[in-house]
Amino acid sequence: MAKDRVLCNLRLRPRLLAGRPSQLILLLGIAALLGYALASGDAACGLSAMTLALVGSMVGPFTGGNEAEWARHLEKLLKSERDRMMGILDSLDEGVIMIGPDRVIRFMNPSMIRQFGDGIGSRCHKHLHGLEEPCRGFCRLPDVIKGATERWERRFADGTVYEIVSSPFADSDQTPCMLAAYRNVTREKLIELELMELSQIKSDLLLEKTRELEQISKDVAKLREEKRRIIRFLSAITHDLRAPLSATQSCLWAITDGYAGPVNEEQRDLLQRSTRRIDGLLTLISDLLDIPRMEAGQLVQEMEELSFNEVVERSVDSVERRAKEKNLTLNVDLPGVSPRMHGSSRRLQQVLTNLLSNAINYTEEGSVSLRVADAEDELCVEVWDSGVGIPLEELPKVFQDFFRGSNAKSDGTGLGLSISRRIVEAHGGKMWAESPCPETGQGSKFTFTLPKKVSSGAAVGPRTASDAAPANQA
Ligand code: ADP
Repeated sequence: MAKDRVLCNLRLRPRLLAGRPSQLILLLGIAALLGYALASGDAACGLSAMTLALVGSMVGPFTGGNEAEWARHLEKLLKSERDRMMGILDSLDEGVIMIGPDRVIRFMNPSMIRQFGDGIGSRCHKHLHGLEEPCRGFCRLPDVIKGATERWERRFADGTVYEIVSSPFADSDQTPCMLAAYRNVTREKLIELELMELSQIKSDLLLEKTRELEQISKDVAKLREEKRRIIRFLSAITHDLRAPLSATQSCLWAITDGYAGPVNEEQRDLLQRSTRRIDGLLTLISDLLDIPRMEAGQLVQEMEELSFNEVVERSVDSVERRAKEKNLTLNVDLPGVSPRMHGSSRRLQQVLTNLLSNAINYTEEGSVSLRVADAEDELCVEVWDSGVGIPLEELPKVFQDFFRGSNAKSDGTGLGLSISRRIVEAHGGKMWAESPCPETGQGSKFTFTLPKKVSSGAAVGPRTASDAAPANQA
């Protein structure tokens, strides 16, 4: 009976629900529509006679007994419903196809016909895939007809990809068929493929860069270790050189001062030049000996409670004469109450003396200034000058061991600033350089901070590069 067939057509297997919801819901709807449309179609060709008469006979007695009129009314109703359902099937974007157990296509909706051509009555493998024989390996028809619900993707010869959901479906003559919905997913697949390729490229690049980074950090570690070894080696040599050099210097002083007999002007000049060269060598030796000591954390043993203003005053005293000789104004701005802090006064004096001497060395006129600001937890010390300044490209290198700038004076080791920064860091502070000095627009400015209490973690390691800083800072 027509109605029975509708119900039978609607009987989709429960496994259908295991697929993708939207496709499955669509297929379920399609099955209902198709079943209803096909069954209603039969109503117009004879089977209505019995069914409708039966319905009419059941309903007639309650409506005044006009059974024939009721049958006609129901038939009209069914026909208009069928037209409506067919309209919906026609307007679907998805292709819908019904294939019988003999692989003959029984139904295609307009969208399926648009995409694959009208193949109703032809074998599915021939019409859809151009094959003489049923598709081997991937034909799902036998399983679906037996009751399975299948969902798969199929790439066609022209490159289009379809997502197919199929389910068993009984045709109006009760033949077990396969009902399938075809959705063109070519664009989605292309995007998916491109995304996969992109993510592959991304992970390849990441891997390559990670390897490069690992190699670089290994190289850096190796270089650091080599540098440490060289410095240890130099320290060992210089340690042995220091005693004879100091003895030679004492002898030269004695001769210059006339303790070994009269010295004429020419001899005195030669002796003084020799003493200056030995002075330079002894400075280099003591700098070279300082680095491994600091890296071994020996500074901590020298730390004590100190009055910072006193440390500054001693440093200023040691450079005052040289500033006067060069006619430079030396400005010193200290807190009214001397800040007390924990540190090595000898080493902090070394830092301040180095910064002030450099400032005087590289300034021909104007002034050298020093200011100490006492904040709650730390001190901030600034030394700036009105001198030649540091070229921008050299700024990041000034704290490197042995670096001497293009403006460097003849005497010097290129170790003064690198040791100063090590000392500051051993106190838990930070040190940086700016050129030109931001406040005056000329010369250079060196700033360092010092926590008043040194944290136990403060230590110093070898530095190869400056911290990230603005272009005029290092
Ligand atoms: P040295 O003074 O022995 O060369 P430093 O480590 O003290 O070594 O300084 C490194 C370099 O930084 C110097 O050679 C110089 O080029 C530059 N420099 C340091 N202080 C100043 C300054 N106040 N003005 C200009 N250049 C400076």
